[in-house]
Amino acid sequence: MENLRELDKRHFIHPTSSIQQQQENGPKVIMEKGEGIYLYDKSDNAYIDAMSSLWNVNIGHGRVELADAAAEQMKKLAFSSAFSTFSHEPAIKLAEKIASISPANLNAVFFTSGGSEANDSAIKLVRHYWKIQGQPERQTIISLKRGYHGVAAASTSATGIPQFWGMAGHMMTGFTHAETPYGSSTDSAIASLRETIETEGAENVAAFLVEPVQGAGGVLIPPKDYLEKVRQVCDAYGILLIADEIITGFGRTGKMFAVENYGVQPDLLTFAKGVTSGYIPLGGVLVSDPIHEVLKEMSEGTLFHGFTYSGHPTAAAVALKNIEILEQEGLVENSREMGEALLQGFQNIKEKLNIVGNVRTMGLLGAVELVRNPGTNERFTSDQKVAPKVIDALHQRGVICRPVTYDNTDIICFAPPIIINKVQINTLVDKLYDAIHAVEKELGQVM
Ligand code: PMP
Repeated sequence: MENLRELDKRHFIHPTSSIQQQQENGPKVIMEKGEGIYLYDKSDNAYIDAMSSLWNVNIGHGRVELADAAAEQMKKLAFSSAFSTFSHEPAIKLAEKIASISPANLNAVFFTSGGSEANDSAIKLVRHYWKIQGQPERQTIISLKRGYHGVAAASTSATGIPQFWGMAGHMMTGFTHAETPYGSSTDSAIASLRETIETEGAENVAAFLVEPVQGAGGVLIPPKDYLEKVRQVCDAYGILLIADEIITGFGRTGKMFAVENYGVQPDLLTFAKGVTSGYIPLGGVLVSDPIHEVLKEMSEGTLFHGFTYSGHPTAAAVALKNIEILEQEGLVENSREMGEALLQGFQNIKEKLNIVGNVRTMGLLGAVELVRNPGTNERFTSDQKVAPKVIDALHQRGVICRPVTYDNTDIICFAPPIIINKVQINTLVDKLYDAIHAVEKELGQVM
């Protein structure tokens, strides 16, 4: 164990981590195995994986069927190219399957290895689309403040959380951010979108890229009518709508895709994470029939965009098995029902504690906000580190969760595996109560 910790410090540069913290303390936990909603470390301590790791292990850990699907495919055809129109059955079948379960107008898929690549691909595809349409000046991508779209070149620029911009040096040109509906009304967020379009000039705007629920921004569920109004604005200005469903896809919000909760059809939809429940890397972009038609008209012939692993056969085989499990076990419905149970649990906690503000869920994507005064929504100061303290208290009680403290918020995010049952929801809620209660005491806020 000690040896592993030392080797980690010496050789492993962790993604989205404090390198200083790693060097001082070593890795936080070294995980050994997973089973259902639980992760186990090397000392066999159990943790509820209340974030499905990185919002991705939708069907839970330890599903042998996915391992078998990968092994079978690897033994037959582990890898083969999809470039230059070479093809293979797993990618064809997966593309067809995803088209069949996604909104009606989305029927063709470009595959990637993950979410950032999916968004970069969507951005290149829409710019390419407008070029073919004879409107090459339509380059600008509008996204939302507090939005998270990944860390590749274009997706970093589309991300609306400034902490992620620093490393990129120069941001890509042609990106701008409108106000998020979080903490404001649909009308003011829509007014900001219109204003952003007008400032850029609609004739220069390629697309609006938006998460139906902003995940990394703090599980920010927009007002019910927001996306519908977004669709109307996009239509009025002739702008394409890209839904980033990288977190929200594949049952997370109680529907197969979150746009179904809003009755909105996007022109493109990016996915990753839940498509394989994280068992193997895979992502992609779904495009609408009219966009597919335009791409088919492309004059130069070759689509000069493709990753070695676009349509990876083993990843596709795992995704097909994952989707089969989602459907056969009714996990999308379970996500909706357990999401309601989780919300009920949050509301019960809110009544008993003094520092719980807004609580919300959409399916099994949820958040609990911690505030100094729930009546006025007055926040704590960032130096009080309230959300990180609750995360630590949860960790001590065997629950892994994520805090969002950006912009002086204290949000605890939840995205447990969508196989979770009622008893496990109750355990999670009880542990959350204990953790917040302990922090409340420390803050001297117990009545
Ligand atoms: N979009 C959203 C909404 C995400 O949450 C993420 C990852 N958290 C990404 C894009 C980027 O995906 P990846 O990390 O697979 O590149």
